[in-house]
Amino acid sequence: MTSTRFANPLLQPATRPQPRHIGVIGAGTIGPDIAYYLKGALPGLKLTLVDIRQAAIDAALARLREYTDKALARGKLTAAAARELPQGLHGSTDYGTLADCDWVLEAATEDLALKRRIFAEVEARVASDAVITSNTSSLPAARIFAALRHPERATVTHFFAPAWRNPAVEVIDWPRADPALVAWLRRLFCATGKLPLVTADAPCFMLDRVFDNWCNEAALLLGDATAAAIDSVAGEFVHAGPFFVLNLAHGNPIIIETNTLQADEEGEHYRPAAIFRSVERWLTGAPNRPAEVPAPTRARIRDRLLGVLLSQTVDILDRGIGGAADLDLGCRTALGFKQGPIELMRGLGEAEVARLLERFGHDRPGMPVAQRALATYLPAERHVLVDRIDDVLVITLRRPEALNALHDEMTDEILALLRRHEDDAAVAGFVIVGYGTKAFCAGGDIGRFPSLLGNAEAAAQYARDCSRLLVHLDRSTKPVVAALNGMALGGGLELAMRCHALVAQRSAWLQMPEVTLGILPAIGAMVVPFRRWPAAAAVFYGMLTRAERVDAAQAHGLGIVDELAEDFDALIRQAVARVHALQGRVGRIPDGAQTLPPFEPGEARTAEGRALSPTVVGLIAGAVRDAASSPTLEQALEIGYRAFGVVACTAAAHEGIAAFLAKRDADFSATG
Ligand code: NAD
Repeated sequence: MTSTRFANPLLQPATRPQPRHIGVIGAGTIGPDIAYYLKGALPGLKLTLVDIRQAAIDAALARLREYTDKALARGKLTAAAARELPQGLHGSTDYGTLADCDWVLEAATEDLALKRRIFAEVEARVASDAVITSNTSSLPAARIFAALRHPERATVTHFFAPAWRNPAVEVIDWPRADPALVAWLRRLFCATGKLPLVTADAPCFMLDRVFDNWCNEAALLLGDATAAAIDSVAGEFVHAGPFFVLNLAHGNPIIIETNTLQADEEGEHYRPAAIFRSVERWLTGAPNRPAEVPAPTRARIRDRLLGVLLSQTVDILDRGIGGAADLDLGCRTALGFKQGPIELMRGLGEAEVARLLERFGHDRPGMPVAQRALATYLPAERHVLVDRIDDVLVITLRRPEALNALHDEMTDEILALLRRHEDDAAVAGFVIVGYGTKAFCAGGDIGRFPSLLGNAEAAAQYARDCSRLLVHLDRSTKPVVAALNGMALGGGLELAMRCHALVAQRSAWLQMPEVTLGILPAIGAMVVPFRRWPAAAAVFYGMLTRAERVDAAQAHGLGIVDELAEDFDALIRQAVARVHALQGRVGRIPDGAQTLPPFEPGEARTAEGRALSPTVVGLIAGAVRDAASSPTLEQALEIGYRAFGVVACTAAAHEGIAAFLAKRDADFSATG
């Protein structure tokens, strides 16, 4: 069982207890940041920071105090958590303090011989089953751990700066590592808010191959343009250009180190640009201030940058260094790309990708080229993970950077999966769950909606289009069970309410926050709950018009949630059992007109007293009534779509969406 690789790391049963004492070796730039993450994520943990320099330890401990104070001041940590964080945190220059560690994580200087010496020291002191990992950016695990007596408990866990906040962690699956170790690390990272990405043991693993070569290519272009100009052209694809990031991360020596390794192992085309050895800081502009670049130069730079990105992408996929969906997600979350390379490939189209790769291959002989038809590099699923537990498909919504919010592509991926397996007798049904421990799904992306403000027809059609998956669920006979592992908000809750049963962890909660944005939930929330759970009508009305929050236990008491689960493992077990129990018994949302109880008109305010738009509250109230008296579900849903069109033309929606985009609270005092 332990060697089974589930795509969702939390589906893999835990094979080891949570660590109690972790040693972090190296109190330089990244070691203390990793320590801060670990201490925050694992309450009660004893953590020892070891370095050969006492000054580094003192500075690291001071930094951790600063982080804690800042997080407390910003409300990111509770006072209790801030008090707990320094407990059990020690610094030492003595490797002997690591003796009872159940995990030692090395983040010392990037030097193979040094790391091998460190691991010999560590292995001489810790238990034979203590986990050992290295945070190397480039050195393959097979080389670092070659001399270990127990290499099966060792691998690379590669964090990205700033490690306390950046969710990405590459977990290297190298041949001598126990598969259970890799599974345990993935599970632990996922359960503590990180995004583990499994990669093969190639030099620089997956994401640094992209980053290092992107930076190196930028440096090779310096004969054509300045660093500021190249950064400006790169700004189409990344939030900050390569030279700006290199300055920020003091990255020049790293590129020399990592690209020399790639050049020595894989060919001269990877050799670092000579200029890296002559420059300490680059002259760059602010990331959001574009520089003037003549069109032909811009085109040449753009082609080369896209060329190296696409070339690395096909190489990573051809060599199985990482998966396409992970590559996209990692490039966005860890490296600051606006779109992942696979998404870019899709947008550019096959002919343009072929042109770029061909030109790059010509300009940079030796660089990887596509080994197969370009279409085969695009995976069927990028935003969901698919696992099978017995005869049930578990679909995990994975957009961790957006709390698993739905968007068109994700909706289409789920729909395609349901359709693909509808007539497959080997599949009994589906469970839909969110990635991680925080969110089932935080709603629908704002997507194209801002551009539809003021256009009732287009907004109503948008709502109809966004409903395609939900309407499909209404008709489907194969059970689909929502497993709520965390918050289910707005469009996410609308999806859960169309599933044929709901199971929720006790920590889950439900809310429809649309009214606080001056809009309304258009794809079923004003219709379905009143038909499906009429006894809870007043609660739903409060959720719709006052954004009231309902926790899992309350929802269970009201019959909305069929079952509560104590933890994630139980949630999945119970959801799978529900799929089996629903065989041949999938219910239908009642058709026909409904009678609603009278609702308290109340003030247009949230439970916390925030003023809402009376116009929007009135629109919701009207739509709920009209939908209930509609003779069919279809007509009732249509009322919701049209109400969305109406709301899109209100001053309240303009204000609400403008406020959302500006990250401020909406002010409905002047909008009605
Ligand atoms: P750094 O040079 O800032 O810090 C390294 C620390 O290791 C120093 O404090 C040094 O005193 C200590 N050290 C050296 N020899 C030691 C020994 N024998 N025992 C204990 N401590 C020793 O380096 P860094 O940037 O923090 O990088 C550390 C590791 O993490 C490297 O392998 C690097 O490639 C990797 N990494 C760094 C980043 C980053 O953003 N800095 C990102 C990903 C991976």
